[in-house]
Amino acid sequence: MEPIQSLPGTEDILPKAQHVGQDLKVADIHTWQRVEAIARDIFGRAAYREIRTPTFEATALFERGIGEATDVVGKEMYSFTDKGDRSCTLRPEGTAGVVRAYIQHSLYAQGGIQRLWYTGPMFRYERPQKGRQRQFHQVGAEVLGSTDPRADVEVIALATDILQTLGLKNLTFYLNSVGDKSDRSRYREALVNYLTPYAADLDADSRDRLSRNPLRILDSKDQNTQAITQAAPSILDYLGPDSKRHFDQVLTQLSALGIAFELNPRLVRGLDYYTHTAFEIQSSDLGAQATVCGGGRYDGLVESLGGPATPAVGWAIGLERLTLLLEALQKTAPAAPDIYLVSRGEQAEANALLLAQKLRHQGLAVELDLTGSAFGKQFKRADRSGAALCLIVGDDEATQGTVQIKWLTSGEQTSLSQANLLSSVDDLLQQIQSARA
Ligand code: ATP
Ligand code: MG
Repeated sequence: MEPIQSLPGTEDILPKAQHVGQDLKVADIHTWQRVEAIARDIFGRAAYREIRTPTFEATALFERGIGEATDVVGKEMYSFTDKGDRSCTLRPEGTAGVVRAYIQHSLYAQGGIQRLWYTGPMFRYERPQKGRQRQFHQVGAEVLGSTDPRADVEVIALATDILQTLGLKNLTFYLNSVGDKSDRSRYREALVNYLTPYAADLDADSRDRLSRNPLRILDSKDQNTQAITQAAPSILDYLGPDSKRHFDQVLTQLSALGIAFELNPRLVRGLDYYTHTAFEIQSSDLGAQATVCGGGRYDGLVESLGGPATPAVGWAIGLERLTLLLEALQKTAPAAPDIYLVSRGEQAEANALLLAQKLRHQGLAVELDLTGSAFGKQFKRADRSGAALCLIVGDDEATQGTVQIKWLTSGEQTSLSQANLLSSVDDLLQQIQSARA
């Protein structure tokens, strides 16, 4: 029978990394766990709390929350009608669900500021490429309830902390302000005036956006369009006094924290609820899919989803792109067990199964050989496992309640009663650690 393959744009994350030729395709699980652990730790120390929302939601949430004119909603959503005739969509991003939960559970009624973070799979129907998948993963942060520029700076600092702690290099942090609604409507007019004479030379999508969502044209990946927008007016020249003050404070505080940035006035988000700060962190080591982190302020979103007017700021990091960078940076060691346990013979095997369980309950990582093959073959596997110590149980040991201890680092071998072994696990663990050092 033909085996069934995974769908295009989805990846298995295996204990060992997968390569296509020389190129890394998916990092190993160890890399993923390291990223998750570092993010969790950094969020924890800044008093951010994790939130988990469903992987599918009502389609209308994303239509309203992301905007129907965007590629994500217009072209990339995985939508289906369920058996109850509801229109459902696999979440293409995390913010809409978080904001829905914030409103639904009246988190605003707890007063003050909500600092939230999340991680999980997201789904977009895109052309699969390196760093671009149909199921991908994000970690994200959202701060709800503060207009203070320090909130913008705090979330940005968390993103740069995570990337720095991971040891990533060659990153550039691009920053812009899209002002408020009225700044943007004045800018929109100037932009349309500038672009209209070039309408015929724009790519088809951009021409279409000229009337519907002209700011998004600045985001076009078409080279011709990019050449035209190069000389377009800058939104930074259209900021009113309040927007300018907010932005200046963000810049000053970022500098005070030693976070380097480059202004990029073409970095925009086309939707009305995006306000003020917009940013992206790019890596020069990723080729075409260069953006690792994108975010900004979205003061209008909570209200547009039916909640009380609530300012907010956040970002999302794409984990596939991050793990590709990490794997290129350093080889992570696969986790090795403390002990490899070999046994042969009916009585010995039953005894070893029990011994493994008891050792694990005492905190040791034990890999039990299940092959029943000759001792010589089991020893070879013990060597390959990376364990420091091999325990050997044959039928004689099982009868006598003893075990052979073989240090794989030095070859030294002794015999011990199983009772003594189990009562001196702390000693053993210390010996394992020093054998490894
Ligand atoms: P891009 O311009 O690369 O399509 P985007 O603007 O659609 O990115 P956001 O919606 O801002 O991306 O998502 C934040 C981050 O999530 C991106 O910077 C990227 O790292 C990651 N990301 C987005 N789409 C994908 C995807 N299809 N596969 C892998 N990672 C993705
Ligand atoms: Mg995209």
